[in-house]
Amino acid sequence: MDTKYILIDNKNIDSALISEAGQIIRNGGLVAFPTETVYGLGADAANPDASRKIYAAKGRPSDNPLIVHICEFSQLEDIAEELPPVARELSDAFWPGPMTLIVKKNEKIPYETTGGLDTVAVRMPSDPIAAALIRASERLIAAPSANASGRPSPTRASHVKEDLDGKIDMIIDGGECGLGLESTIIDLSDEEPVILRPGCITPEMLNNVIGKVSLDKGLAPDSDTRPKAPGMKYRHYAPKGKLLIIEGNDMAVADKINSLVAGSKQVGRKAAVICTEETRGLYDSEHIYIIGRRSDESSIAHNLFAVLRKMDEDGFEDIYSESFSGAGVGTAIMNRLLKAAGHQIIEV
Ligand code: AMP
Ligand code: MG
Repeated sequence: MDTKYILIDNKNIDSALISEAGQIIRNGGLVAFPTETVYGLGADAANPDASRKIYAAKGRPSDNPLIVHICEFSQLEDIAEELPPVARELSDAFWPGPMTLIVKKNEKIPYETTGGLDTVAVRMPSDPIAAALIRASERLIAAPSANASGRPSPTRASHVKEDLDGKIDMIIDGGECGLGLESTIIDLSDEEPVILRPGCITPEMLNNVIGKVSLDKGLAPDSDTRPKAPGMKYRHYAPKGKLLIIEGNDMAVADKINSLVAGSKQVGRKAAVICTEETRGLYDSEHIYIIGRRSDESSIAHNLFAVLRKMDEDGFEDIYSESFSGAGVGTAIMNRLLKAAGHQIIEV
């Protein structure tokens, strides 16, 4: 298949191009599009064949459900079997934005879209291109991240092209994603709201609106229960090289990483360091990747997946990364980084 690649300026959206993309969705095709979190691979959420195509293009396991993207709150009411009052409170506070709610579904969303589950994940994106596409398609758009299954999520259209060129109908290039991490997922289908995937809407932000929200116990690396979001159990985000996280105070971490790099070199392995602007001066390796600023963790979230992809492009065999705080957006950053590292972390 020929994949059509189009550029859209999110400050001046070309309505003819968006209608063309919307038409592809209505016809049961696949369109990759930017959102504020990561690029999504979209299809008509109510069309089982269109959903199946998403799984095929990504090589995604069929039990891993898709997120349904909407542009009006009434669309959530329309596909939910029942809606707890917190859904409205959370929507008022964080939609449109990087938050996904899981609710019991009705018959309007097929099991092909929900991986066989009786619940559905729903999000209202704030990205203007994403919102315009949903509107133009006159459909709800099922969209997982637009990467090949297992690879780091795409935060630029070039990442989508690397993974899915020739497998989908269209890629909309709308520039770099602002946030760079996938949405916070909150399960509202049980008695108590539970965070199934941390993201840029932090536990602290949720607490301020609906009180204490717990984190799915299955997310802890040493947990013997399965994560409740099927996608969280898969190895994910991983670069091809061996990624190791080193945690401790800045000086001790840098000493350890410098000696690990020297060790890799001695045995002829190509090694890289992932660090921050503040700590850059502590390393003597020639391959240093600055992931962002410790003083502004959103910059780290923004760059994380692009840096992991760059590691593959540049062919590193050993990758040594600093660790980040476990609070605020740091919770989400560490969740992705630990998965990418297969939970290989050493404390110094
Ligand atoms: P992605 O869009 O690729 O970031 O993946 C969507 C994530 O949402 C995956 O981790 C899914 O397992 C999760 N998810 C989607 N629908 C549900 C659902 N009904 N229940 C639990 N998790 C879900
Ligand atoms: Mg994904």
